[in-house]
Amino acid sequence: MNVGQKTLLDILPKESPEFTAMDALTRNKRKHFCPACKQHYDPTFPTKDLAMSQGVSSNKEQWLSGICSDKCWDDYLG
Ligand SMILES: [Zn+2]
Repeated sequence: MNVGQKTLLDILPKESPEFTAMDALTRNKRKHFCPACKQHYDPTFPTKDLAMSQGVSSNKEQWLSGICSDKCWDDYLG
């Protein structure tokens, strides 16, 4: 888990050109890994802040446990 670990994308203002450039540069490197289905995937929300403020619980779990979906959550815990 990467709790508390900040990246440039967390620090840069979202409207800045630096954010846009960094977002584009790191897009493919920011895939999440699901410990249940062992797949790399794109999180529903592009940043943890967005997921936490706007997402449902499964969107938040993508940034907390890494689990990609409700189905995997059930599989992983079940
Ligand atoms: Zn999964």
